[in-house]
Order: sequence, then structure tokens, then C-alpha cells
Amino acid sequence: MITKKELIIIGGGLAGCEAAWQAAQRGIQVFLFEMRPTKTTEAHVSANLAELVCSNSLGSERVDRASGLLLQELITLQSMLVDCALKTKLPAGRALAVDRNAFSALVSERIEKHPNIQVVRQEIPVIPNQACIIASGPLTSPDLSKAIAQFTGQANLFFYDAIAPIVLKDSIDFTIAFRASRYQNDSEDYINCPLTKTEYENFVAELTKAERITIRNFESEINQGVTTGKDRFFEACLPIEILAQRGKDALAFGPLRPTGLRDPRNGKRPYAVVQLRQDNIADTLYNMVGFQTNLTFLEQKRVFRLIPGLQNAEFARYGQMHRNTFLFAPEIILPTLQSKMREDLYFAGQIIGVEGYLGNIASGLLAGINASHYILGREPLTLPRETMLGSLIYYVTHAKAQDFQPMKANYGLLMGNPEDQKISKKLRNLQFAEKSQQALDVIVEKINADQFYAHS
Ligand SMILES: Cc1cc2nc3c(=O)[nH]c(=O)nc-3n(C[C@H](O)[C@H](O)[C@H](O)COP(=O)(O)OP(=O)(O)OC[C@H]3O[C@@H](n4cnc5c(N)ncnc54)[C@H](O)[C@@H]3O)c2cc1C
Repeated sequence: MITKKELIIIGGGLAGCEAAWQAAQRGIQVFLFEMRPTKTTEAHVSANLAELVCSNSLGSERVDRASGLLLQELITLQSMLVDCALKTKLPAGRALAVDRNAFSALVSERIEKHPNIQVVRQEIPVIPNQACIIASGPLTSPDLSKAIAQFTGQANLFFYDAIAPIVLKDSIDFTIAFRASRYQNDSEDYINCPLTKTEYENFVAELTKAERITIRNFESEINQGVTTGKDRFFEACLPIEILAQRGKDALAFGPLRPTGLRDPRNGKRPYAVVQLRQDNIADTLYNMVGFQTNLTFLEQKRVFRLIPGLQNAEFARYGQMHRNTFLFAPEIILPTLQSKMREDLYFAGQIIGVEGYLGNIASGLLAGINASHYILGREPLTLPRETMLGSLIYYVTHAKAQDFQPMKANYGLLMGNPEDQKISKKLRNLQFAEKSQQALDVIVEKINADQFYAHS
């Protein structure tokens, strides 16, 4: 029986685990329901909590980049998952990339050992009648999706997301491919495959006409009559073949841009470059940056082997397309992440339309704090719009219906004009970052003082 100081969390992903930790640290007894491994999703492959389903990068660590600012804010707010990410970090230039298995194993261990958290491996198909956070992610089970759609009276919006292939390092031809980071020729962090103009044009031609997998209609799984069922892609995670269709140089100015890279064979900047980033701590697997795709596996092998250096590539995993589910948050939740219709119900993670690993961790953190505040009879916390997280949550809770798309942290969301319009983007962003830190400093002492246990 759930008593007043207890909280149910549905989903042991990034948002659910961070929320569970924050609530547990405040003395709340948390029941964290995760359906894996009993029932799994189309993308998860392990029984671990907080599994990273695609890229192993949490974004740039530079505070003049949006993900870097969010990272700084999460460190200030004592995010447990960010602490685990920093402890399982891999070399990746200025990006925070992690060993995905070590990361989720560490999160699982901390969650399972916390005296205030009980992990229950079970699917929850309905919305519980007790204090609850729904953090069931983009691959929320169909039964729970039905229940959410019935509760909100709103459409779940169904569309699709794609994951990138992973290549075995040993199969890469290093007489062509070279190691470097952009503007850092002495850095070994990325493997780069250079293309001439002719090679690039041939690659794009084959990519755009290659056979694709027919997308399943997930709408029928829910069949509520309340779905909009739009076959939409994340704008920030477009399949490479769709991006390539947008113009012959769309890739050369996008994920294959050669900026800051020189081919050591001739000292020149290539016409285009395919980058691969380390994916495991053993340094045997590399993922193709920006290569989310919906090509058939056979076509991936044929077309991606046209890339110089990858002519004999062996693929540890092919790219794939997946379902993605999110609510029309502006109608459904407040900036505290509380439901507008039920004060003891909160939503967090990708399901509210926040995109990106760090954004989802951050929304879990806020939901965990606010659900605890509700249970403890305290004032809810709304994060200031000078902060990246405050701005992101403001966006998803205030966006207009016609252009509502999942949103990733970005500097365009931050409130307020820079004091000096003539300064560089980097300096302007650093000014924003300083304002964010000042705004957070005002509230952080109070938030952290609420914690029951010391942060480990
Ligand atoms: C194929 C794919 C690729 C992606 N690639 C990236 C990427 O490269 N970078 C990025 O930043 N983001 C990516 N995303 C988005 C990514 O899912 C989120 O950033 C992040 O994992 C979302 O965190 P979350 O906690 O909301 O959901 P999740 O991490 O998915 O956690 C939700 C959890 O809830 C569980 N669950 C679902 N329904 C129930 C139920 N009824 N009862 C109990 N448990 C349930 C699931 O098993 C899962 O463990 C991708 C998403 C998909 C689907």
C-alpha cells in the first residue's frame, strides 16, 4: 500500500533514474517500475537501468555550447547521472562521451543500492492512483500509451527516430582514414574518412537511391482514435538519406563537413569527411557520426562501403528506425512538470518533448524534486529562464500547437538579450552561461538543503 511519503516512477531510463535519485535523496520512498527485461522495447538491448540506446555522446562539454551549459547546470544541481557519466567518460575531444555499459551499470548499481529506492521489474499498463512520475520514454509500452492518451484526452504524436551504424575498428583502412579532431590534428579522438568531390557525389547519388525499410504503422498498436499518427522525423536526428535528398551539398555542409580537418596524405582540406567516434572502452567499436539511417542492412553495407577507408568495413550494428512517442506538453503539463489535471502526477523525459540525453536527465531531476516537494508539502520549483533547463522546460510547456516539435537544448531558447550585440557568438554564449550560473546559485543552496542523504 502506497502511503503519503511514497512515489511511483514508471520507467528506469535516464529521466526515471534521475527522478528516483532526487526523490530518494529527499527522504521519499520510491518504487521505480522498469519493464525490462521481462518486456523490452524496439531499441533497448540490456536489462540495465539508464541504457543509452544510440549515440554514446552526451554532447559538448564547452559551456559556450548548449549541451555544455546544461551539463554545467546539472553538475550544479548535483545530478547523479551526470556524476556517473563523468566517472565513465571516454576520450572524445571536447564532447562528453561515455562507455555505455559502464555508465548504465554504475547508474543501476547506485539506484539499486539506495535505501529509499525499490526497483520493480514490471510493466505498468495504467496510470497509478498514487503520487507518480511517468518517465516511460519514447518507446512507452503500447498499453501505457493508451492509458496516457485516455487520461490526457490528447493525441500522442507518433513519429520515427533513427540510430547510426557501428563499425569494427579493425575493419577500417588506416592508409586512407586518419585520426584527428576538428582544428586539433594532434588529437586522436575521431577517425576521419576523407572524400574527394567525385567520391562524395557518387556516394550521395547511391545513398539517395538506395532501398529503404518500409516504416511500420505504430498507430495501429495504440488504435485509440485520438492519435494524430504523423510520420515525422526529429528534425535534429534525420536519417542521412533524407538529409541527402535536401540538396547535393546538404551533407558536405552538415554531418560530412570537412571544417578544421586536413588529410595528412596531402595536407589539404578534403571535400567532405565522414567522422567515426569511439563507442566502447575497449576501443574496438566506432559509430558513424550523423549516420542515422533507414536503409536496408544490405544497402547500408553496399553504400557505406563506398566511403574511402570503409571499403571493407564490418558493421557491429546496422542503423535502424524506431517509434517515438511524446505528448503535446503545452496542453498537459506545467513548467513544474506537474499534470494540469492531477496535482500528484508528473511527467519527465522524452515523453514531454525534451530531446537529448542531458535534457532528459535534467527533466527527470526537476520532476523528482517537484514530486518530492508535492509529497512533503513544499513549494514547487520552477527553474529561471536564464538557465538552459528553465528555458527548455519553458519551451515545451508553452510552444504553439502548429510548430510543436521535440526540442533539444540550444542557446536560441535562453531569455534576455546579450549586453553587447557586437561580441562574438562564443563570448555572447559565455555571458549567457554566467547569467545562468548566477540564477542557479540563488536557488541551488535551498534545493540541495532539502536533501536527506549526502550526495555520493
Ligand atoms: C532509436 C532511438 C535512438 C535515439 N538516439 C538518441 C541519441 O543518439 N541521442 C540522444 O540524446 N537521444 C536519443 N534518443 C532519445 C533517447 O531515447 C532519449 O534521449 C533518452 O533515452 C530518453 O530518456 P527517457 O528517460 O525519457 O526514456 P528512456 O531512456 O527510453 O527510458 C524509458 C524507460 O521506460 C521503460 N518503460 C516504457 N514503458 C514502460 C511501462 N509501461 N512500464 C514500465 N517501464 C516502462 C523502458 O523500458 C525504458 O527503460 C533516441 C531514441 C530512440 C528511440
